[in-house]
Amino acid sequence: MDKNLSQLFINGDYYKGTEGAKRVLVNPYTEAPEWETTLGSAEDIDLAVKGAQNAFVDGWRDMTPGKRTEILFKLARLIREQLEELARIESTNIGKPISDARDEIALGARIFEYYAGAITLFYGETIPVSKGGLDITLRQPLGVVGAIVPWNFPFPITCWKVAPALAAGNCVVLKPALLSPFTALKLGELAAAAGLPPGVLQVVTGGGSETGSALVNHPLTRKISFTGSTQVGRQIMRQAADGIKRISLELGGKSPNIVFADCNLEEAASSSPMAVYGNAGQDCCARSRVFVEEKVADQFMEIFLEKTKSLNMGAPGAPSTQIGPLISRERRDEVLSYIQSESADHLLLGGKSADRKGFFVEPTVIFQPDLNARVWKEEIFGPVVCIRTFKDEDLMLKEVNDSPYGLSASIWTNDIKRAFRVSRKVESGVVSVNSHSSVHVEAPFGGFKQSGIGRDLGLHALEGYTELKNIYFGL
Ligand code: NAD
Repeated sequence: MDKNLSQLFINGDYYKGTEGAKRVLVNPYTEAPEWETTLGSAEDIDLAVKGAQNAFVDGWRDMTPGKRTEILFKLARLIREQLEELARIESTNIGKPISDARDEIALGARIFEYYAGAITLFYGETIPVSKGGLDITLRQPLGVVGAIVPWNFPFPITCWKVAPALAAGNCVVLKPALLSPFTALKLGELAAAAGLPPGVLQVVTGGGSETGSALVNHPLTRKISFTGSTQVGRQIMRQAADGIKRISLELGGKSPNIVFADCNLEEAASSSPMAVYGNAGQDCCARSRVFVEEKVADQFMEIFLEKTKSLNMGAPGAPSTQIGPLISRERRDEVLSYIQSESADHLLLGGKSADRKGFFVEPTVIFQPDLNARVWKEEIFGPVVCIRTFKDEDLMLKEVNDSPYGLSASIWTNDIKRAFRVSRKVESGVVSVNSHSSVHVEAPFGGFKQSGIGRDLGLHALEGYTELKNIYFGL
């Protein structure tokens, strides 16, 4: 790993940090301590936020959208040129299969392209107020945005916060997750090379309780755009209250995958394993609660189990790998403790760590767990699926919605009326019918209930990075 990546990126260059305290990071595939990252201090955050505020006032907010568009398109091009290198860094750092890492870097570039263009299509209104005269609305940037990102999809989540925020004229202080700092730092470097003025995008690495908290509490951050656990989201919401800061929170999930007997069963059953085991289950949208209609349950289970057994678990850098290790020893042990909390009678497959080096957990299937079981109710964030059968649509929907979460859902049916009816009744921000796809650059993404507040992606995200101003002209 490039030595620079153990530093921070502030005011257009790598910076060793005011205190320069370091933390060693472990390779999740080899279990060896391999890299260092800087634990950004409150002083580093202060330096970064003040630098970003200066960059905002000194010109970024007033730069024409056309010029911002040009820089962001150039950044997208540089990301594409560096795709292999960025994918290699991400894959090695967090154990992500290299083919997934390549897709995620390409997605990041696409997000910059989208917002580079979208910002010129995001404009205000002319309102016929009853008093007469001329009334118009303007969308104006907020100022300094603090972006806090998790380790499971570091690059795309970073891009879907940074790109709309910058396009709208804000400056960003980005805090990647402690365990996945490297592609965020690379983004800072590439943005500078694309012509982004110093200070417009700052990257401060470090942990949540010190570095993250200092960013949330800094008096000059106007908005916190957070993706992570519901527990930390709750804390950030409380901390943001003092400064009446804008927040957007993308939080946890326990997403349902509903399979009706009238669907294309082969397609539903063979695609469902990767909808939960993809990214080793460390996915907020993982379809971890399957509801299958009783009359097709046997056929569904046969295909699901066969497909799961054929999945390729192995080295993150191997092109054929579909499932890599979990991010850390702690994560692996927590996932295993969830599985051990469940009766062995319900365990159909997996349930243990793999017999090899690396923080692997075998794809695990739990059948007919109790409705009150921890594995059924809580977000496990590992390669574990719980499958229950149902007979009655209304009763099933009650069980689907009996969750504090509401991020995403899949519905498999060929009955158009049922598809629409159930889509409306499921309490989640994102629904896929005859698909497991939750994220589209051009469409809003976010959760109901304790899965979050606000929306990332699409034109709706730009609303969250702007203030709406009303101006009245008496004529
Ligand atoms: P986490 O909440 O522990 O950490 C997320 C980020 O917040 C990290 O950068 C962390 O350093 C920072 N943080 C932690 N405590 C903080 C504090 N007190 N103040 C400020 N920042 C703080 O989550 P994680 O373990 O990195 O990621 C897993 C979680 O993220 C899961 O719950 C998953 O569902 C969720 N997630 C949600 C989405 C979504 O879009 N809804 C996407 C990916 C992950």
